[in-house]
Amino acid sequence: MIYLDNAATTPVHPGVLKAMLPYLDKQYGNPSGIYEFAEKSKAAVDEVREIIASSINARPEEIYFTSGGTESDNWALIGMAEALKEKGKHIITTAIEHHAVINTCEYLKQRGYDVTYLDVDSDGIISLKQLQRSIRKDTILISVMSANNEVGSIQPIKKIGEIARRNNICFHTDAVQAYLHMGIDVRKMNIDMMSASAHKFRGAKGCGFLYIRNGITPSVFMHGGKQESGIRAGTENVHGIVGMGEAVKLALENMSKNILYIRNMRDYLLYRIEHEIPYVVLNGARHMRLPGNLNVSFMGVEGQSLLVMLDMDGICTSSGSACTAGLGGGSHVLKALGADGDRLKGALRMTLDVQNTMEEMDYVVYRLKENVLTLRDNT
Ligand SMILES: *Cc1c(COP(=O)(O)O)cnc(C)c1O
Repeated sequence: MIYLDNAATTPVHPGVLKAMLPYLDKQYGNPSGIYEFAEKSKAAVDEVREIIASSINARPEEIYFTSGGTESDNWALIGMAEALKEKGKHIITTAIEHHAVINTCEYLKQRGYDVTYLDVDSDGIISLKQLQRSIRKDTILISVMSANNEVGSIQPIKKIGEIARRNNICFHTDAVQAYLHMGIDVRKMNIDMMSASAHKFRGAKGCGFLYIRNGITPSVFMHGGKQESGIRAGTENVHGIVGMGEAVKLALENMSKNILYIRNMRDYLLYRIEHEIPYVVLNGARHMRLPGNLNVSFMGVEGQSLLVMLDMDGICTSSGSACTAGLGGGSHVLKALGADGDRLKGALRMTLDVQNTMEEMDYVVYRLKENVLTLRDNT
């Protein structure tokens, strides 16, 4: 099998699994316990808090463990909307956010909040001028993803942070795709809140974190015990958190080497596709893009059909319209980039990581060529 869907999830790193196992076995103490056995679990959780904090230049008490990216996004948006409802009810986000943000905004709209969705250009990047123009007296939150999951476009986060800070507005970023795939410094970038998810960087599913800058106070999201400073109750996912910490350590050790390796492989794949298959369009930016992301439209081909044929060849990919398949909708991200017709229908996303190899890329190009030819002949 060739796995090219690393934006959907990544395999747990063997080192991560090894780090997790004791906490699923003999080291089962509840971190809230006050005997030594339990305190070992608490110490393990707090060590991860420090590892994560230092990876983004935050303080340990600014890291809150959650069940993943979706929860972190929900908490950031709903938590700030509730906390600041006296100040205003206007939220600014983008048209290309993950559904964890978009659908939370839609929920808030039903509750009387007003949401501005910023446009993006053909590269998938927002306009800082439009952001500036959209700010109102009652704007309480700006939420812009660091990097997009479908087309990999990277937003000018530092500049967005400056604008938010200058206007005294809280700035949240969904960094689920970006974290550990590019450098993030929450202080330098003026980020007030940041979402991340372990299973997108070789950790286990169902575990993530929300960074909340000191002084920012979203409402309590999970009511219950005193965990996570009393604002996100529930017994900690100890094994998941320990695994996430190990995944962060492993990723940081090899970050620049891995980024280079993945980007070279992606560029090779793109080069061969563009030179050997006619009528293809690259979706998203050529440069301001995550190293492992490739999103290409094969004109005159149904992306969904191509995906199925590749699956029969043992290649896992994703089609841009997977989320709304059957509804005839097509990807909201590609639409925001200006794609329609064949370009919207023919999109295929391939997302690479370190486990992939150049030999795999050769096989993928070979299968793409044949399958695209077959599908075009049939129409
Ligand atoms: C995967 C993803 C999420 C959701 O994270 P989960 O941990 O799977 O809930 C949110 N935002 C982006 C950009 C993602 O890629």
